[in-house]
Amino acid sequence: MLRFRFAPLLLISACAGLVGGCAGPVTKAPPLDRSAILAEQQRQQAQVIESHAQMLERLQSIAWPVLKANVDMCGKATRASIGLTLTDARDFSRQLRGLRVQDVPFAGVTIAAVAAGSPAAAAGLKSGEALQGKNVMEIGKALNAEMKKSKTATLTRTDGTQIKLTPDTICAAPVRLVQSNQINAYTNGKSLVFYAGLLRAVADDAQIQLVVAHELAHALLKHPRKGTINSAVSGGWLLGSVAGSGGWLIDTFSDLTGQHRPVSYRSLGTQLAAWPYGRAFEREADYVALYLMARSGGDIAKVEQLYSTFSKSGPASTWIGISHPITPERIVAVRAARAEIEAKRASGKALLPEGWRQK
Ligand SMILES: [Zn+2]
Repeated sequence: MLRFRFAPLLLISACAGLVGGCAGPVTKAPPLDRSAILAEQQRQQAQVIESHAQMLERLQSIAWPVLKANVDMCGKATRASIGLTLTDARDFSRQLRGLRVQDVPFAGVTIAAVAAGSPAAAAGLKSGEALQGKNVMEIGKALNAEMKKSKTATLTRTDGTQIKLTPDTICAAPVRLVQSNQINAYTNGKSLVFYAGLLRAVADDAQIQLVVAHELAHALLKHPRKGTINSAVSGGWLLGSVAGSGGWLIDTFSDLTGQHRPVSYRSLGTQLAAWPYGRAFEREADYVALYLMARSGGDIAKVEQLYSTFSKSGPASTWIGISHPITPERIVAVRAARAEIEAKRASGKALLPEGWRQK
């Protein structure tokens, strides 16, 4: 008993010892050179830029065939493109927040990404090459004016040589990459937005291509706009975010597993109320996506594995489907759609989703 009576006192004296004796480091590491840290910071930030550009090039190369092969299904939403993404120092500092303009290891305009199979790739342009021009905005304006006038696009290398390109017509759905480790993607009805986490988690390009097709399907079917109307009716507090970014790839509640930020059931319910047709839209996007991908020559046999990736990263998706069907249902639906597509191919029928109405 005596031992217990003394215990609190011992505890207090141990704390006092901690505060007094452990306030700072005890050992002495070698002193650091400030200029060495700055040089390392610049080197690492250059690496960030390089890996971001490589990821963007991969994404745009995967997306190019889908955007090009489905021009007829995109109706009026098409545009001329040479498959090139340009960047300047200011652009990088905007995209990768925290990067200071002076840390970007180049000046002027540089090619950030060249989509494989595009006119830019056919002309031999490579990412990392510098071009003549003050900034991206200036070159973009000049190219747009030229494309309107003569349907060509002329670029000038820093040594003065000119490259004249003939743009392709593709679906008008710019593909964007954001630095976030979430395994997800969404569309606002215009751009297709991908999270870096998805590209890091999925090594197979065919699976990423399905995601491109899924988001394009949402945009073509105008799901985000329909979502806006529906959420305006229900008036949930998530209205803004649903209206702004309808057409996710997976429930953002893979968070349910504790992988990302915690989400309360109340907020799940509100989101469900804000987008009552969510599941039906997701089913439709999955279905149409398989057609978009098949039409662009993609390997639709590989796509089932993508949903397995979702199950592994968010196990709750195997039994909880809030805005999306549960992943087992999505896999079975993909198999059925694939069988339908293969039967159409075998009988020489047009590859269009059942009930598709051309706009
Ligand atoms: Zn979706």
